[in-house]
Amino acid sequence: MLIELKDVTKRYGEGELAVTALADVELLVSEGEFVVVLGPSGSGKTTLLNIVGALDTATSGLVRVNGVDITAASRGELFDFRAGTVSFIFQAFNLFPGLTTRENVLFGIDAAGSDSDPDAILESVGLGGKGDRFPHELSGGEQQRVGIARALATGNPIMLCDEPTGELDFQTGVQILELLQEQAGNGRAVLVVTHNREISRMADRVVELSSGRVVSDGPPAGGKAPVAELHW
Ligand code: ADP
Ligand code: MG
Repeated sequence: MLIELKDVTKRYGEGELAVTALADVELLVSEGEFVVVLGPSGSGKTTLLNIVGALDTATSGLVRVNGVDITAASRGELFDFRAGTVSFIFQAFNLFPGLTTRENVLFGIDAAGSDSDPDAILESVGLGGKGDRFPHELSGGEQQRVGIARALATGNPIMLCDEPTGELDFQTGVQILELLQEQAGNGRAVLVVTHNREISRMADRVVELSSGRVVSDGPPAGGKAPVAELHW
């Protein structure tokens, strides 16, 4: 099991102003799984991703990721964990604007201490020959491919994607989702959070959040659909 959350609660603030962002969340994700976390704005999706990625800490509960109990880890263990276990993909791409495509990917390689070939990775996401471009010289879809290339460059087994198609048109969004699904096929665990129910139809498993609670967890209603059948 790559991701294991048991009875996870996250509260922000104290007293009357306290907000419960997650309540008693249970989540299990194994290698090769493409899981969509579905829920409306404010349902706790980003909080959940940040807790899995050790960018935020749970108020209570167990968070074990790739064998590491994050809630009990030392600073040194968390340092290794962030470098070697999880990679984030963001709605707004979050590339370094002053770095070329190749340099953005090299950042991922260096951060993880890997020895991957940046140009081979760019080629694998359909960006062969674009290593010398800067982010502003690329389309939104191409920029998100660089984000995926940077995540792949680390060799990390878990990809955490926060509304990865939120800024893309439908056609480009579908291509990015196919690319992410392919990474699960390669043995990674891919967690995509979205408010778009249509996207959840292509998942192996859909975990639905409502007001911080998991209200359902299972295969998509109607079965897993091919990406070509999605529309939004
Ligand atoms: P989503 O990603 O599904 O839109 P979030 O995880 O961002 O939801 O937020 C879940 C809830 O937690 C919301 O009510 C939000 O306002 C609250 N929240 C998120 N981050 C913080 C924070 N740093 N401080 C206080 N409240 C927060
Ligand atoms: Mg969010």
